[in-house]
Amino acid sequence: MTKKKTSKLLLSFIGLVSFVLLAACGNSEADESKAYIGISMPTQSAERWIDDGNNMVTELEELGYKTDLQYAEDVVDNQVSQIENMITKGVDVLVIASVDGSALTDVLQKAKNEDIEIIAYDRLLMNSENVDYYATFDNFGVGVIGATYIEEALGLKDGEGPFNIELFGGSPDDNNAVINFDGVMSVFSPYIDNGQLVVQSGQTNFNQIATLRWDGATAQSRMDNLLSAKYTDSTLDAVLSPYDPISLGIISSLKGVGYGSDSKPLPVITGQDANLPAIKSIVAGEQTQTIFKDTRTLASVTIDMIEAVVNDEEVEVNDTETYDNGEKIVPTYMVDPVSVDADNYEEALIDSGYYTEEEINN
Ligand code: BGC
Repeated sequence: MTKKKTSKLLLSFIGLVSFVLLAACGNSEADESKAYIGISMPTQSAERWIDDGNNMVTELEELGYKTDLQYAEDVVDNQVSQIENMITKGVDVLVIASVDGSALTDVLQKAKNEDIEIIAYDRLLMNSENVDYYATFDNFGVGVIGATYIEEALGLKDGEGPFNIELFGGSPDDNNAVINFDGVMSVFSPYIDNGQLVVQSGQTNFNQIATLRWDGATAQSRMDNLLSAKYTDSTLDAVLSPYDPISLGIISSLKGVGYGSDSKPLPVITGQDANLPAIKSIVAGEQTQTIFKDTRTLASVTIDMIEAVVNDEEVEVNDTETYDNGEKIVPTYMVDPVSVDADNYEEALIDSGYYTEEEINN
């Protein structure tokens, strides 16, 4: 080999090594004196978690932090090993949105043994004294907002009814789903008791209406079964759905048996997350409402927590009573969710810069 060729090869090798090293760091701008933040997210199958992760990484890297963002794709074992990996890599703070809130107790203990600060993100980490802070939305409020929307749409306060309704819940291993449903029932219980709302399936307990992993296809097949078992002779007036992809599954099921025409309009259908397909569906007049949880705000709240924690300053929280994880009440910062429908989506989502008009209309 010529000398020239050897030095060319050597240069490419050095280039490759530096590329691999930089890629391993994840952030070439990282300030080595700043803390290393591990961010463990549940899945990339939902838009919101992709936004949550990206928002945090962008802001943290602008501040000079080194970050490691991982998605567990809804598999608990993936999440455990990703977090173990972050501990080995020496993160100083862990921000975790869990797949299963009760499945991380051991790995959280391992993290605490290394003095890592632990922030539960959006979903509460259960059964562990090692959770330091919690950044989330008002999860009871999410349930209240969806149910109140249906209450108003049907005129329940004015005594209208009876109306047929079916209820859907989120994943039973996600504390948010349980709290969302408590919020829903705080509004609906009196109307179910006095007969203004009729649940033909009789399924009004959380365990009967929960949807494992918030899966749209699972909800769709439950809706198929409900429609064929209970609604061949009567019409469904409303569906409380806790999550946009579940709403989409419910709508497909309803359209499959003829809803969505002038003679048989779709019921009032709620949702959660204001994801793009849901907003398109709202604009098209199918899904009725969703709940906007501004992931930019949650990311900022979390970053303020991280900054306070690493600088040994007081962490700002606005709730020290609500979120009991079975071992302790976790100090929390709660952000307000916002109801969105065809009347206010432009103001809530376009004017705030969350989506562009083109994204919604294309
Ligand atoms: C979140 C919701 C999300 C759901 C499914 C919940 O824990 O609070 O915003 O829609 O998980 O990903």
